[in-house]
Amino acid sequence: IGDRANKKLTFPEDFAPAERVGLGIDTHAFGEGDRIVLGGAVIPHTHGLTAHSDGDVLVHALMDALLSAAGLRDIGYYFPDTDARFAGANSMELLAEVMRLVRREGFAPCNASISVLAERPRLSPHIERMRQNVARALGLPLSAVGIAAGTNERLGYVGEGKGITCCASVLLRRTV
Ligand code: MG
Repeated sequence: IGDRANKKLTFPEDFAPAERVGLGIDTHAFGEGDRIVLGGAVIPHTHGLTAHSDGDVLVHALMDALLSAAGLRDIGYYFPDTDARFAGANSMELLAEVMRLVRREGFAPCNASISVLAERPRLSPHIERMRQNVARALGLPLSAVGIAAGTNERLGYVGEGKGITCCASVLLRRTV
């Protein structure tokens, strides 16, 4: 009997923080195509996003945030774009693999906070579906996934409509 918060400190790992933050950023350029995939949602558009995979820039940023928080390498290390196995890959499936790696390190997500910068297309009609997809993939309640979308006020490559940038942060907690 005792307070779970009153943890016995014996070994070096006992002193490691129980929570770890992670940050991931990704950018993809617009190219040929008639749809983009963002947060697992297929969104019709005048262009696609150029990529070796399905170009899901939101999920790529999220995967890097998860891996980084768990002390692992980045997505280019686990899913190299020189590997034909990942050509046209469904990024939600790669995310499931990242979650296996994160769980194996003894971590589980507490929440994810994601910001998308895109001049177009208009993303607000798709935000709830993206939140649902991400929440399901991370094993989180919907309330633990925040996705904000904004323009770049016509500044820079985002503002000129040349591409989309996404920034994701996650908090992981130790499960072991
Ligand atoms: Mg990417």
